[in-house]
Amino acid sequence: MEKENNLGPLSSCSICRKEFSKKDAILISQQEGKVILHTTCSQCHTSALIVLSDEQKGFLGMGIITDLDQQEVKEKLQMKAISSDEIIDIYKTIEKF
Ligand SMILES: [Zn+2]
Repeated sequence: MEKENNLGPLSSCSICRKEFSKKDAILISQQEGKVILHTTCSQCHTSALIVLSDEQKGFLGMGIITDLDQQEVKEKLQMKAISSDEIIDIYKTIEKF
């Protein structure tokens, strides 16, 4: 069963509004209903981290602009093998916006 998702605002660049295609996004981490994606806009090259959580009502998503590129994000997160602390950190960062 596919859940409804409300990721419309996250499926395009927050800067120039260009819609992402599949190749613009890579999966960084996936665990226990939380997914972290890295997107790079093909038009303005803005990178963003998108944190999705699988809630009862559907997917909840938040985007955060980052200056890390895909490789840097992968290295940074994989080195520490993604702890829940890190996800909390990401949420905290997002909350500041
Ligand atoms: Zn853009």
